Amino acid sequence: ESVIVAIDGPSGTGKSSTSKAVAAELGLRYLDTGAQYRAITWWMVSNGIDVADPQAIAGAAEKPEIVSGTDPAAPAITVDGVDVAGPIRTQDVTSKVSAVSAVPEVRTRITELQRSIAREAGGIVVEGRDIGTTVLPDADLKIFLTASPEARAARRSGELKGKEAGDLAATREALIQRDAADSGRKTSPLAKADDAVEVDTTELTLQQVIECVVTLVEE
Ligand code: C5P
Repeated sequence: ESVIVAIDGPSGTGKSSTSKAVAAELGLRYLDTGAQYRAITWWMVSNGIDVADPQAIAGAAEKPEIVSGTDPAAPAITVDGVDVAGPIRTQDVTSKVSAVSAVPEVRTRITELQRSIAREAGGIVVEGRDIGTTVLPDADLKIFLTASPEARAARRSGELKGKEAGDLAATREALIQRDAADSGRKTSPLAKADDAVEVDTTELTLQQVIECVVTLVEE
């Protein structure tokens, strides 16, 4: 059986942790599409391309070779053979990824990659922003995770603790700005598909969210 599960939503909703755990529990592959947009952003920055110049980004969109591992226990991502799992999580990449991923040529490129991975996986959980609406509109199950801005900011700064965590207010501000950019772009914005099941995670533990999604897949 090769089930396809799409999990979308903004950051800080527990999307990655949930998606990985659901995939592991159900024996499915796992794809982090945000990591792919982060990887192409990392490549643009590393190659001196001005992220404020959409034409320059569009012109380079086909250049980097991006390879995603799909093991939920060991998510991996390389760009031109270089392991970028660490570098794609820096504040610098995080602050630039919305601009790069708003460029239509980047989305076309990455979307094709995602579709071919999903097609060949033999069952997969794909997490992102536009999976249910654009990338895999025929997914067997679509989940849209939400949470209050306060809960999302608190989770994000918990993840960043010890690394690059600023204060909570700054984290909340950066997160709201990235959501606004992701939701407001013209090409496949962050959005809930009409046939997605919305799960508000504000008052739920991670374990409860995982159980909820596993139950929905098994139904
Ligand atoms: O999920 P994550 O926070 O790692 O995603 C990083 C960024 O990648 C998002 O803020 C968004 O700009 C972009 N993205 C996207 N479409 C997706 C997944 C991520 O545009 N399907």
